[in-house]
Amino acid sequence: MSVFKSALNQLKTAAQAMNLEPAVLEVLRKPQRVIELSLPLKKDNGVVEAFEAYRVQYNNARGPFKGGIRYHPHASLDEVKALAFWMTIKCAVADIPYGGAKGGIKLDPKKLSEHELEHLTRSYTRALRWAIGPKQDIPAPDVNTNAKIMGWIADEFSNLVGEYKPAVVTGKPIAIGGSEGREVATGTGGFFILAEVLKKLKKDPKKMKVMIQGIGNVGYWFAKASQAAGMKIVGVSDSKGGIFDKRGIGMDIDNLMETKKSKGLLAGCYCSGSVCDCKNYQAVSNQKLLELPCDVLVPAALENQIMAKNANRIKAPIILELANGPVDSEADIKLAKKNVLVIPDVLANSGGVVGSYLEWVQNLYGYSWKEEEVLNRMKDKLAAALHAVWQAREKQKVTMRVAAFIVALRRLGESMKGRGVI
Ligand code: NAD
Repeated sequence: MSVFKSALNQLKTAAQAMNLEPAVLEVLRKPQRVIELSLPLKKDNGVVEAFEAYRVQYNNARGPFKGGIRYHPHASLDEVKALAFWMTIKCAVADIPYGGAKGGIKLDPKKLSEHELEHLTRSYTRALRWAIGPKQDIPAPDVNTNAKIMGWIADEFSNLVGEYKPAVVTGKPIAIGGSEGREVATGTGGFFILAEVLKKLKKDPKKMKVMIQGIGNVGYWFAKASQAAGMKIVGVSDSKGGIFDKRGIGMDIDNLMETKKSKGLLAGCYCSGSVCDCKNYQAVSNQKLLELPCDVLVPAALENQIMAKNANRIKAPIILELANGPVDSEADIKLAKKNVLVIPDVLANSGGVVGSYLEWVQNLYGYSWKEEEVLNRMKDKLAAALHAVWQAREKQKVTMRVAAFIVALRRLGESMKGRGVI
């Protein structure tokens, strides 16, 4: 199913459950602005290639547009629209003064040199110069983009406007106004939300066996936090495949990352330095990994991983959506029937945008907070968001996703009314 269609299905379901005012639904059915670009790049070998690029500014009723930029060979307008819509909902759930946006360039970063990537990023920034800005639209990292790339955007934008404007992007290097704690915010925030939900369910974190699909920025920092809390990581995967701990006693995430760095692979068996243990660990495909038994399944890679075709094979009773849109709207219905608790992306990974918001505030006011202060402020925001969602879930007897949408749609409706949009 189209990712945007799945996102709109979620909107319709929540709108029905809460009897949403038709005007709010009408406004949110479409993005406010869609920017489609073709960016020519003269590559290092002299060949010119034009890359498709997008920025979707979905809704700014609650504040400037906000959302990451993704570099991926499958980036598409449909995907970027869905991600921009979810950002709108997410910022409202977290109750931070932003609207929602998202950007993407259709490219495989592994096939470009650093010089080529920088050139393309700067040209994307020039093309969007009139549409982005600290009070207009603030990009951030997403899949395959990082602090270095955000630094190029901040620099190019500042050169264009003739004034240093680090607040135009978040997720920057600390040396140019990035925030302590931003890199770890999404994964750590996801862990915090899970720990709070486990408390409500009266489950002991130390007894939880966790399976993580996608061990990039978000998956890695989630793994670090959950391991520190005594949870057992029994399986992980990346785009090349996964491994599963047959013993169920948990693996060490840093040893694993060392192996990935030195060998370029997780799959095959588990190695730490020169020591390999293929007896206790088993290679699995990243699709199969989703279907193995565990207490908490954590999709932290891409959207549409759990769909109608595999939803009934999922064995985990709890799914923590750290990726955006990993469970599509058809799978959602099947999982709800099986009583699987899905902690939705718009809440579970909102630590990222809350961390970004705190970076932006520091940039605007010239503050510089320590990591502890940033993470404590983030936790306060996440605790309030979870509380509001949990209350709506209990009161309306709906799934956590519908509850999160209800919280967000009420807030969006109030802002639209306050501004006279509806
Ligand atoms: P990343 O590029 O750092 O990592 C993505 C990881 O997923 C990589 O390890 C990659 O190998 C793996 N992967 C890709 N396809 C896979 C597949 N089919 N099966 C298993 N693994 C696969 O990206 P990230 O920043 O960690 O983002 C991951 C997800 O979290 C995305 O959905 C993103 O939108 C979402 N997210 C990120 C942030 C953030 O702050 N970075 C915030 C909110 C949400």
